[in-house]
Amino acid sequence: MVAHVRACSPLYGEFYRDLPDRVEDPRLLPVTDKKMLMERFDEWCADRAVTLEAAEAVVGDPARIGEQFLGKYTLYTTSGTTGRRGIFVADGRTMAVVTAMMLRWIGGWLSAGDILRIAARRGRTAIIMATGGHFASAVAAARLKRRQGERLETLSAHLPMTELVERLNRFQPAMLAPYASIAALLADEQEAGRLAIHPVLLALSAEGLPQAEYGRIARVFGAKVGNSYAASECMFMSAMCEEGWLHVNMDWVVFEPVDADHRPVPPGEQSHTVLISNLANRVQPILRYDLGDSVMERPDPCPCGNPLPAIRVQGRSADILTFRTSSGEVRLAPLALSQPIEAVRGVTLFQIAQTAPDRLEIRLRIAPTADEEAVWREAETGLRKLLTEQGLQQLTLEHGGEPPEQGRGGKFREVTGI
Ligand SMILES: [Zn+2]
Repeated sequence: MVAHVRACSPLYGEFYRDLPDRVEDPRLLPVTDKKMLMERFDEWCADRAVTLEAAEAVVGDPARIGEQFLGKYTLYTTSGTTGRRGIFVADGRTMAVVTAMMLRWIGGWLSAGDILRIAARRGRTAIIMATGGHFASAVAAARLKRRQGERLETLSAHLPMTELVERLNRFQPAMLAPYASIAALLADEQEAGRLAIHPVLLALSAEGLPQAEYGRIARVFGAKVGNSYAASECMFMSAMCEEGWLHVNMDWVVFEPVDADHRPVPPGEQSHTVLISNLANRVQPILRYDLGDSVMERPDPCPCGNPLPAIRVQGRSADILTFRTSSGEVRLAPLALSQPIEAVRGVTLFQIAQTAPDRLEIRLRIAPTADEEAVWREAETGLRKLLTEQGLQQLTLEHGGEPPEQGRGGKFREVTGI
């Protein structure tokens, strides 16, 4: 990868100019981060045809979601948890590794009986995702759907819970892939008897829940529950074993838990952040990249027998917000709340904080070139519309005077509870 980026990425060529010809220790490489790379997007990418302008033209047009970029790449965007919106480009090699790692993970813990039960229901799968091309799964799902027809249902995480429940009841998935926080809310619905589905497998993604929640979700649905931890910068990073540990796919990612000065942190200690090097993606190289997540590596072998390093991640926990209304409680996943703000152009960073049971504060950092008043108006209108759809029109929305507050490891949590 070092030889490749030196030859093909002008930006890495500059970063690595003073390094020896042969680099065998990743710790010799300078640390990179999202801000550094995104600011010089065109020089960063290793294919000169890949430009920010061309990529933005595709991601900015909802009609083009699922389209291959330049005929061969997959594009996806992320929100600004480290202060900046990201646009990521994956090549075919990356997507092949994503698929292989996913099969290795699922194949590892489904029994022959599980596979038969899934096959008996023709593999009916429901994927619940954030709209707006949050993850490559949005693109993959759009492509799959064309091939699989009625066997795949993709649902938006922003649908009101009543509609999500109704559509899942109708569809009856054998496999369900929701965000972890949505899975917890669906488990509430199933317990209350409004949702009645019998998936064999729930594959959760993106967020961490309190450990006991995974057991509850498995019990309520009578299903196997898997969880993975990944990032747009490296979609195949890790997957959870039956002991509740995330095993890092070290064959495809160099994963270095480090302190605030980027020195290695030994297993058993909480890191400040983690540096990752993605060994698959050649078009948009991610090398010694500061991801901003605080992790702890297990010091002893994991009882599950998997020899890959086992970690726990802090700072990805999903706060489910609870609101009291005259007709009872409404619980919302953070993801549902963030979407209307994320969609506003000119917002470089935001936070939605619940400050009281009936009160939300919006904190925004706005691009200097944007019309501040228009950005606030659009953000508030979008959020207000979503709250009304959820029966929460009586909530008070306030403009925060302060910018978003930074959490441990430098990450900004977009939604925070009381
Ligand atoms: Zn394990």
